[in-house]
Amino acid sequence: MFELDIEMLKEQGLQLMDSAKKTAQDLADKGKNKLDLLNQQARLSKAQRQLGALVYSLHKAGEENPALVEKYIDAVAEVEKAIEDIKANMTEDERAEVEAQEAAEAAAEEPAVDKTADEEIEEEPIQLRGETKICPVCKSEVDGDALFCNHCGAQL
Ligand SMILES: [Zn+2]
Repeated sequence: MFELDIEMLKEQGLQLMDSAKKTAQDLADKGKNKLDLLNQQARLSKAQRQLGALVYSLHKAGEENPALVEKYIDAVAEVEKAIEDIKANMTEDERAEVEAQEAAEAAAEEPAVDKTADEEIEEEPIQLRGETKICPVCKSEVDGDALFCNHCGAQL
């Protein structure tokens, strides 16, 4: 008959519990990284869209506002940096998963472009979304997603 070594079993049990805890923690971190990444990617596309809309509307109006454009470029660069930081914190597997997802999304966008080539080209691709808000500084009406006021450059 084996003699049960209670102490050893206890020890092993504790180790198992520790590793279970650690795995749960890893999973939580993993989920958080992906969530942070999604949030930052949403912020990035929003900032890029705003930058594009700004440049477009300035160009259309024959105006220039390099200071405001610069603010958006800085905002985009900041979010890009945050995304790089999050990716740097990810494991190889996570990064591979995220990058595969990005590649799949990029590939999925291609047919849509080909499809619209046959159809009538949409006149206003950078039309701002309906939602607007009021700049607290100069009271101008600005796009709901705007990061900065188009008129006074205040951060919103
Ligand atoms: Zn303003």
